[in-house]
Amino acid sequence: MSQNNKQVTYDDNNIFAKMLSGDIPYHKVYEDDKTLAFMDIMPQAEGHVLVIPKQKAVDLADLEPEYAAAVLMTCKKVMQAQRQVFEREGIIQMQLNGTQAGQTVFHYHVHLIPSSIHELGRHAVTQVENDQLADMAEKLATAIES
Ligand code: AMP
Repeated sequence: MSQNNKQVTYDDNNIFAKMLSGDIPYHKVYEDDKTLAFMDIMPQAEGHVLVIPKQKAVDLADLEPEYAAAVLMTCKKVMQAQRQVFEREGIIQMQLNGTQAGQTVFHYHVHLIPSSIHELGRHAVTQVENDQLADMAEKLATAIES
């Protein structure tokens, strides 16, 4: 690869890897054997969720087919729950590959954001209170279970 499209090497100490290993807390929305979904702490809209594979993938280039399929099916569950909980149709599915695109955490993840492309808030800027995130995570988890 040339210098301009050089990829970051997977770091076992990245923040999402630490969530998967149980070393740091998060507000869980859904989990299965291949994926984990949790609340984004600096949401671009109310109810912003991240879905990650349980695979060491920096970005889309690394993602194995079975994990790609599993992530997409988890995204579908989360998106349907967001529609129900936030009583809106519009959910943005977003995923950044590489620093140049604005990626800040180098463990592949999909953003699911109850918003519109015309109203989307700024990326990873404003942190939300834990109790608000816990409340939304519980509502989304309940909607997925039902
Ligand atoms: P990206 O820039 O696409 O890599 O997105 C990384 C996302 O992770 C941003 O939306 C951040 O707000 C979010 N984020 C960073 N740290 C945490 C954390 N500890 N818990 C939940 N979300 C996080």
